[in-house]
Amino acid sequence: MNIPLSAQWIDASDEAAVLSVLRSSHLSLGPRIPEFEASLASVAGTAHAVAVNSGTSALHLIVRALGLGRGDEVITTPFSFIASANCLLFEGVRPVFVDIRDDTCNIDTTRIEGAITPRTRAILAVDAFGQPAELDTLREIARRHRLSFIEDSCEALGSEWKGRRCGGWGDAGAFAFYPNKQITTGEGGCIVTNSDELARLCHSMRNQGRGETDDWLGHERLGYNYRISDINCALGSSQLQRLDSIIERRAQVAAWYNVRLNRVHGVIIPWIAPDVTRMSWFVYVVRLAGWFSMEDRELIIDRLAELGVQTRRYFTPIHLQRFYVKEFGYAPGSFPVTERVARRTIALPFFTTMTEEQVNYVVESLDTVLAGFAEDYGRQSIR
Ligand SMILES: *Cc1c(COP(=O)(O)O)cnc(C)c1O
Repeated sequence: MNIPLSAQWIDASDEAAVLSVLRSSHLSLGPRIPEFEASLASVAGTAHAVAVNSGTSALHLIVRALGLGRGDEVITTPFSFIASANCLLFEGVRPVFVDIRDDTCNIDTTRIEGAITPRTRAILAVDAFGQPAELDTLREIARRHRLSFIEDSCEALGSEWKGRRCGGWGDAGAFAFYPNKQITTGEGGCIVTNSDELARLCHSMRNQGRGETDDWLGHERLGYNYRISDINCALGSSQLQRLDSIIERRAQVAAWYNVRLNRVHGVIIPWIAPDVTRMSWFVYVVRLAGWFSMEDRELIIDRLAELGVQTRRYFTPIHLQRFYVKEFGYAPGSFPVTERVARRTIALPFFTTMTEEQVNYVVESLDTVLAGFAEDYGRQSIR
């Protein structure tokens, strides 16, 4: 059996939605963009959504719209996809990393105030793997220190913390729609915000800095071409209509994994905080027990691949990516919790249409591979 790490779910209504745009007069800047944005705003519970061509573009526009730039510092997590820190580098902002909690893999809110300096302008939190960060606490810290609060919810569309949706807690939030995310537009992303001003600026900057008038060649500010097409938005709207069932199906896949993996010796299943009132799973990431080395993990990944099971190390800490080391001088040991977690995590195959049979095969394969290690090293045998 061959099981990919991820797979999109495209159905007949998605195909029909895309086809109808292809047969219309507007492939871009047409009616599908505001339609998609209205649905996204309702998913986040915000006043506005501005759709763009990627999650990275969404984060970049938020940073610019908040006026962050050279000399400023923003507090964020090193355990994330690279874009959540790169969006700061684009504008010459210094990312100030704060280590994560071992249990949730999200930023450790007890360490944030120790990292605030006179140059700190914002907190940029990430809802890692779909699990919300401690959003009420983060918002409170940001308020107390008069900082902006940015939520990178690119992995958490539809998740809730204490009964409120991710994306809408801060000054602005970002979602992303690459094919491995909960819903896809092929490529795409969006900004959600309750601020009229931020929404207006993001609208303008995604479209070459144009103003609200019809003057196609009038540009009021530095802008970009971060537009998303109506083709992408039609797909996104169609997918968004199924969001509830997508979230339910992914929760079912996660539940199958949880039950079966609890019986496998040597893996630790994800822990979800009780304040997460709705979990929209992005990826399913397990940890290997402490006795496995980093070399063991490489072998485990290779042996699973030989059995047809695709897995991935998730994440490589941002501060240890080569160009961050070069630019900021980070060394191993800078953020010990992040590094310890990152050495032991493996993302297992996980997607909306995954069957119970596929989950069984992944778990059996993992059990077999880990049992092989127990024999190799004379460790306590499995079960
Ligand atoms: C997916 C993702 C993004 C944005 O990715 P794009 O590929 O640019 O759409 C940003 N941050 C995090 C944490 C992500 O997982």
